[in-house]
Amino acid sequence: MAKTNPYEDAKEMINEAADKIKLEPWIRESLLATHRELQVTFPIKMDNGAIKNFTGFRIQHNHMMGHFKGGIRYHWNVNLDEMRALAAWMTIKCGVVNIPFGGAKGGVICNPKDMSEKELEKMTKAFVRRILPIIGPGIDIPAPDVYTNAKVMGWILDEYSRCMGKKELAAVTGKPIKMGGSEGREEATAKGGLFVLNEIIKERYIKGLDSLKNKKIVVQGFGNVGMQFAKFAYEEGAKIIAVSDSKGAIVNKNGLDIPKVIRHKGKTRCVSDCSGAANTTNEGILELDCDILVPAALENVITMENANKIKAKVILELANGPVSISADRVLSKKGAVLIPDVLANAGGVAVSYFEWKQNLSNEHWSKEEVNKKLEKIMKENTALVIKTAKKHKASLRLAAYIMSISRIAKKAKKELDENHYTCLVKNL
Ligand code: NAD
Repeated sequence: MAKTNPYEDAKEMINEAADKIKLEPWIRESLLATHRELQVTFPIKMDNGAIKNFTGFRIQHNHMMGHFKGGIRYHWNVNLDEMRALAAWMTIKCGVVNIPFGGAKGGVICNPKDMSEKELEKMTKAFVRRILPIIGPGIDIPAPDVYTNAKVMGWILDEYSRCMGKKELAAVTGKPIKMGGSEGREEATAKGGLFVLNEIIKERYIKGLDSLKNKKIVVQGFGNVGMQFAKFAYEEGAKIIAVSDSKGAIVNKNGLDIPKVIRHKGKTRCVSDCSGAANTTNEGILELDCDILVPAALENVITMENANKIKAKVILELANGPVSISADRVLSKKGAVLIPDVLANAGGVAVSYFEWKQNLSNEHWSKEEVNKKLEKIMKENTALVIKTAKKHKASLRLAAYIMSISRIAKKAKKELDENHYTCLVKNL
């Protein structure tokens, strides 16, 4: 009962923002539906000779702002409503940071931890062949998400290009730099989150949060996003007191030695048993007394079941949908400030957009240039979200939705007037 359906949560927020701005019904209806849903099932010969069927999805939520864009997730819990929610959040996220992309998401139901690299490559390439008609540089551009990475994006690029008979660098983002990936993409989501946090600090939006120095931070999830965020926040003088991954959690109330934890995770593939820290439980670290809680793993980890036990004053949602909407209400009532996913983790799609642009124009930007552009986008839009929140006396989440949906609506109306909205994406 405590776990909510993330897609219902996404639609509830869209409705709330639509009510606030008296959104035209036809735009509301489009945002409450998905544009297109593709479910595929395909067989793979495993290393032991057995044939196994895999099921995957590519959900395209909305393309009023531009081509569809969104990650590919490999996880045993992947399901249709999760994909729909993640696709809808992508639409909103692109609107929040004003990136000319729409929202999509994909995934395959599998346990990548139990598969060999050869099996994963075969599965990835077979999935690409099944979703081939609806992806491409001018249609829908995939990127990494949970348990996929640059290597997987490289396989997607190879297979897509092979099937099309020509190299299509802009078909996927988050690929290795030597294959046309962008500098700074791997750390973009975490860096973006830090830019958002620092802008909120600069604007003095949260009482008592005037710098990161010595602030006690807990990070759930020590993968691409969580690990990089912990590293950057540690370098800015924050005390990361606890971190976790799918296998366990560690705590040191005086602050963890993050470079050491990263080395330990690299060697043992988990954070548990790192010297200088005590092992603890994954759920337990969410309830620790800290200044900032950073969920950076999966959705629905703070629900009505544990909302009342959360002590953090600030929650920076680097994961997508980590806090259910009902839990958000409980936390906000207690005085906590939630920095919503659609703003906090938008750095990833921002740099994905830079990568796509570089690929199309045959350019390669330096890391400094990428980070400078990322900083500008994240800081400017954070300031606008704060302004919108104050204007509408709304939470940061509602303000972000209001801002995004207003931008989407403006673009949609313009495209409709110019009568080329239906041509935005070819192959429809
Ligand atoms: P990842 O696969 O690199 O890392 C996921 C981490 O979460 C791993 O450390 C894993 O062990 C941990 N984890 C899994 N289940 C857990 C559990 N029950 N408790 C604690 N930890 C658990 O994935 P990622 O790319 O870092 O993505 C993390 C989150 O950030 C996801 O919600 C994703 O949608 C979101 N996100 C990612 C990007 C990106 O650029 N990669 C962009 C925007 C949002």
